[in-house]
Amino acid sequence: MRASVLYAAGLPRPYADSKPLTLEDLERPAPRRGEVAVDIACSSLCHSDLSVVDGVRVRPLPMALGHEAVGRVSAVGDGVFDVRVGDHVVLVFVPSCGECRLCLAGRPALCARAAEANGSGDLLHGPALLKTRGGERINHHLGVSAFADHVVVARESVVVIDDGVPYEVAAMFGCAVLTGMGAVANTARVESGQSVAVFGLGAVGLAAVMAAKLAGASAVVAIDPNTAKHALALEAGATHAGTPEEAEALVRRTAGEGVDVAIEAAGSARVLAACLDVTSRGGA
Ligand SMILES: [Zn+2]
Ligand SMILES: [Zn+2]
Repeated sequence: MRASVLYAAGLPRPYADSKPLTLEDLERPAPRRGEVAVDIACSSLCHSDLSVVDGVRVRPLPMALGHEAVGRVSAVGDGVFDVRVGDHVVLVFVPSCGECRLCLAGRPALCARAAEANGSGDLLHGPALLKTRGGERINHHLGVSAFADHVVVARESVVVIDDGVPYEVAAMFGCAVLTGMGAVANTARVESGQSVAVFGLGAVGLAAVMAAKLAGASAVVAIDPNTAKHALALEAGATHAGTPEEAEALVRRTAGEGVDVAIEAAGSARVLAACLDVTSRGGA
């Protein structure tokens, strides 16, 4: 099988020259008990992959990257009864064991066992399976490692989806959509009639824009320095779009003293401060 492996983090930019990822021919692993094998159909690039490449997120290396993907189940291990060969599945980067304190408290996204496995480059049900033809261990990225043509993951790392969902759409449900949608629906709990500002119009921000529109927000102000993103945001449901310099004036015009909810989707402390600047008293 082939996978894209990072051997050293923090190489100089541009990455087109330093080429941090190496396409490796690895031994093809088989699923163990509680695991499934998936042939990857589509995988998208997330900023969290880049954060491992540039060294901001320190991970054990070498590591096969990629965590936002969709594919088709090619084999299931012992003890897996609810996923079948041929099922289309979205990969999940935070599996939950269902048994630890946080899982039992109804907070599966904080699963302690998954966090430990993800941090050490292992899988939920056992040590890393990936290795080079020479036998060198390759760590898994977030229990997925989807920049590959084949993966073996914990059963808890897949969600079966309808076969009719196009692969290139479904792949984004592995991270960007659930992050942006989750911020709006689960964290901010945006209600009909509220005003929302979204800073950063990558895939997460655009998913937040769509979720805010779906929630019935009265105004959705979309902000990004890249003006090429503005038309896309308006198409996705934003009522207004502009640059960071225009943000305050846009919010004043549409939401008076400030928005009810501001979403930071750029991963930057400076942008978080800008969010607070446009949030109304008592907003979130
Ligand atoms: Zn991601
Ligand atoms: Zn757990």
